[in-house]
Amino acid sequence: MSMGSMGVPTLNDFPKLYWAVVGSAIGVATLVNMFNYMLYRQRMSAAGTGHTRPAKPSSPFFIFNASLFAVMREASNFSARIPVKSRLFRLPTVGRTSLIVANVVVIVVLCFYGFDLNDRWKREDIAYRCGVVAMAQFPLIFLLAGKNNIIGYLTGVSHERLNWIHRWCARCLLLTTTIHLGYFFADWAPYNYIGTQLRENTLMWKGVVAWAVLIWIVFSSMTPIRGWCYELFVLQHLVSFSVLIGFTYIHTPAEMHIYIWIPVGLFFFDRVVRGLRVLYANISFFHPKQRSAGQMSGLWACKAEFTPLPHKTTRIVIRNPPISWTPGQHVFLSCHSIVPLQSHPFTIASIPQDGIMEFLVKAETGGTKRFFRHAEKTHGLSVSSDRSCIKTVAIEGPYGCLRPLRQFDSVVFLAGSTGATFTIPLLRDILQGWKEKVNSEQEKSLFRSPKGAVTRHVRFVWVVKSKGQLGWFAEQLSAVCSDFETLREKNRTIKLEVAVYVTCDDSFTEEHKSLLSNITSPNIGFSGEKKPQRGNVEFRSRTPSLDKNDKIDPKEGIEEITSTTEAATCGPNGTCCCRTTVDEANTSDAMAPCCCGANPSPRSLSQLSPSISGPKSLVHPIISVISGRPNPRYIIRTSLEQALGESAVVVCGPQGLVADVKQDVCALSDERAVHKGTGAQGIYLHTESFGY
Ligand SMILES: Cc1cc2nc3c(=O)[nH]c(=O)nc-3n(C[C@H](O)[C@H](O)[C@H](O)COP(=O)(O)OP(=O)(O)OC[C@H]3O[C@@H](n4cnc5c(N)ncnc54)[C@H](O)[C@@H]3O)c2cc1C
Repeated sequence: MSMGSMGVPTLNDFPKLYWAVVGSAIGVATLVNMFNYMLYRQRMSAAGTGHTRPAKPSSPFFIFNASLFAVMREASNFSARIPVKSRLFRLPTVGRTSLIVANVVVIVVLCFYGFDLNDRWKREDIAYRCGVVAMAQFPLIFLLAGKNNIIGYLTGVSHERLNWIHRWCARCLLLTTTIHLGYFFADWAPYNYIGTQLRENTLMWKGVVAWAVLIWIVFSSMTPIRGWCYELFVLQHLVSFSVLIGFTYIHTPAEMHIYIWIPVGLFFFDRVVRGLRVLYANISFFHPKQRSAGQMSGLWACKAEFTPLPHKTTRIVIRNPPISWTPGQHVFLSCHSIVPLQSHPFTIASIPQDGIMEFLVKAETGGTKRFFRHAEKTHGLSVSSDRSCIKTVAIEGPYGCLRPLRQFDSVVFLAGSTGATFTIPLLRDILQGWKEKVNSEQEKSLFRSPKGAVTRHVRFVWVVKSKGQLGWFAEQLSAVCSDFETLREKNRTIKLEVAVYVTCDDSFTEEHKSLLSNITSPNIGFSGEKKPQRGNVEFRSRTPSLDKNDKIDPKEGIEEITSTTEAATCGPNGTCCCRTTVDEANTSDAMAPCCCGANPSPRSLSQLSPSISGPKSLVHPIISVISGRPNPRYIIRTSLEQALGESAVVVCGPQGLVADVKQDVCALSDERAVHKGTGAQGIYLHTESFGY
């Protein structure tokens, strides 16, 4: 197969050209990742030497980079919204779209470069060219698929965040193979030769089978179909791509087989590394220290306790975990005695210093529902009982990475419902940094994470469906606030604001796993049918912020407003208060009782408990508990206005919340003209929505 003429590379060179482009893109992303890491070390060391604004670029080189990043972030996070009746249809972000369009452009150029498309005698040549360009794409698809992801390690992007590119690359491969097949058919059609080829040319029908399997893979990987029965999807996906690889192998000439062997190698590399990680994390013999300390016995290292929580949520706790992790990471957890042959990703809600690995798992319709049922059935049974709530579990991981948040001047966390499992450990990590700073722990080593924190200001927002959910993290949040108060006595520059919003607006708390998941409700009040409620209780803290000098007695800080009158409406203009966007500037105003039934039981905050009948706990009084949905743009803006350097916005929750925050950050970056001479500093945005 050679075709070089008039400056056109030979056929076998085209895969190399494709990889020259893809490799350059990965190279640039790797350089950006290395630059970010260097910036982190530089900021942390500047903070250690007493620099007052370590997160603010000062030299022309860093100012230029900050401006470049600001423009790129603003453009790449932008996504157009099309109003459809009373709903908004969100298009994918410009960043994602441009990556895929760039891939398609490269593929199309490589497929057709140097050909006269009107020349019917060139159709077969074009078909062959498309075939080799298709082969070049196999390694990329496999590189993007693994959990132990080489591209991920180089670029600092976690496997689950690369998964959508994996799917789109497969669609691009389908496009290329369709053109490949189409040009052969177009070449043979004038002679009625297609049928003969299909009957007699074995190479031909092997290719057609591979193409048909690829169509099936692309179709079955679409979001609603993939989510329908995830375990079945994974199984058939493995079988389908084995068939695809097999038929492609026998369809292609030997010189192209390298593009088959590389993916096969990548697949087994990932599986072997995963296997080794699973063995290390789950076999107790690999952890002799914990065994000799009596923290582990028997073969298996991980035993977990299942506790039912309000809102069909299960708290799963592994004591003395055999592995360490960084806040924000997740593991794949399986418990074969409850849910055989399944493993699900869950974010670790604790930090390593706790000595436990904790997860909060919302019951969906599959394995997570069975976890909850088990927790309900066994709750309160003794450990020695046959149906004990303690079970042997297996973990795989940890996976996931994000830029260390301690390097940012100000950090805004926004979480919806179980999204707090992601943001709370990150909040606690910053607090840990403040503790290290106050205690002047400055261990310097190239290979250790620097101690301390650049961060001065943190705003933590958690949106929940009812006050019952607040109990999930009441203890952790209260402990954070108490620790902060102690730290602030020694370091007056730090500031923490914590607010919990109780809202009945599902787009901020519930994931809608439907075909229309990218349709969101506009940010307006709701005037639907109301269910008047008697005797509701609303709580609010005495002040919305923790930026104060004096301590407050926890019990004094909580006010209870009760009502025994039937409420027809509790928000403005006939809306429900817990669905309307809160007027952030006036959150300390007294709130009316909620009328929609989102907070149905008149509970006192002192009744909020981490488990259904576990120990009772109070939330710290300086945590604002507000009825209504937050106004992310206002919250982020107020944080940015006081920032003395680059800020980070971290959001984790349903698509609705994540999309709103993305749009708000884009708009604020534009409005404030970040790094465009106004003095406004950069905004780093990290989004998580618990899905691939
Ligand atoms: C990185 C990450 C972190 C997560 N952290 C948490 C957390 O801390 N708390 C929490 O409650 N949920 C978390 N989730 C979501 C959680 O993994 C799913 O809700 C859970 O796997 C659903 O299991 P199920 O069998 O009950 O699901 P089903 O009801 O069968 O399906 C519900 C949805 O979950 C998806 N899903 C099912 N199994 C898997 C799987 N093995 N891997 C990926 N997706 C799957 C399906 O595609 C479907 O969209 C996280 C997800 C990811 C990707």
